Amino acid sequence: MASKQPYFQLTPRGFPQTLSIVVTTYNEQEALPFLRQRLTAFLATLPCRAEILMVNDGSSDLSLKHLIEWSNADPRVRVLNLARNFGHQAAATAGLDHATGEAVVLMDADLQDPPEVIAQMLDEYRKGYDVVYGRRTKRAGETAFKKATAWVFYRLMRILIHPDLPSDVGDFRLVSRACLNALLSMRETHRFLRGMVAWVGFPQTAVDYTRDIRVAGETKYPISKMVALAWTAAVSFSPTPLRLSFGLGILIAAIGMLQAVNAVIRSILGLHLVEGWSSIIVVNCLVGGSVLISIGVLGEYVGRIFESIKERPLYIVASNINRPAESVSTQLAALGDVLAVSKEVPVEK
Ligand code: UDP
Ligand code: MG
Repeated sequence: MASKQPYFQLTPRGFPQTLSIVVTTYNEQEALPFLRQRLTAFLATLPCRAEILMVNDGSSDLSLKHLIEWSNADPRVRVLNLARNFGHQAAATAGLDHATGEAVVLMDADLQDPPEVIAQMLDEYRKGYDVVYGRRTKRAGETAFKKATAWVFYRLMRILIHPDLPSDVGDFRLVSRACLNALLSMRETHRFLRGMVAWVGFPQTAVDYTRDIRVAGETKYPISKMVALAWTAAVSFSPTPLRLSFGLGILIAAIGMLQAVNAVIRSILGLHLVEGWSSIIVVNCLVGGSVLISIGVLGEYVGRIFESIKERPLYIVASNINRPAESVSTQLAALGDVLAVSKEVPVEK
């Protein structure tokens, strides 16, 4: 069900003047020392300037302390400390909003996304691609259950969200400033960044990598959060669930009608008829059930409209540590670009 990507003339370019690396962090005190070591070593191999934006998503452990120490020791490291746990997608958005580089990489704190892959991503960026995502060819050390749910998740999302949504791709990716500005112009409350990147378009390509095991600590994405993300993705992007309930309602109503016709014919032909008690109960249940399902899904959409209409901020920054003085003007300039891009946003699919 892959759709054809539009043809793009790639314009080769140099390294970005500044590469921003955005890392979301939630209770990662065990992983942070490893991350600091690996990222510092990786930055030394980079031929361009870099900034690291560590977003602390309301960690309740000592993550913030680690981050502040790191930021004090290394001026390239900024810490964006959110006021509470807003969830991975909102934390990532906060980091992307505050990144100042011409190219931005989003990655996890647990080193499952190896920083060394960024060098390959930069090669593709230099060829002219605006989005370079990391595609997991192998997932080291993950349970069969996690692998199976991930497999189903990606295929389902492709049907529901966008045929260009690549399979086996997480949020580990590099995006150019142009694509990022388009992405930042989308301020919806319920966010599924991967789908949004697929939606904005731009030339996209993949680099393959083996997904390592988590360097330390536990996953912060339990099955409940995965299901919530899948639900957000499905309901925020596609009216298919709404249509499904509509179809199911028609099907169940049709079964009820057939049942009625069957009863009429049997009574005309004088065939044996059950007293009627059970069929009334069954039809009642079916009709009641289909109505409830429809109302439930409809309520989900109405609830989301309600939340979006409130236009609350997606996150609240409590403190912005080690923020460079010039970044205010850079951000204002970037905001100008966002507004310019938002006027040119393409026709919705
Ligand atoms: N994370 C976050 N906020 C949350 C949950 C997770 O910022 O509410 C971060 C987490 O610290 C990690 C990344 O998102 O850097 C991905 O989470 P995790 O590695 O636990 O997910 P998994 O790889 O197991 O799917
Ligand atoms: Mg992880």
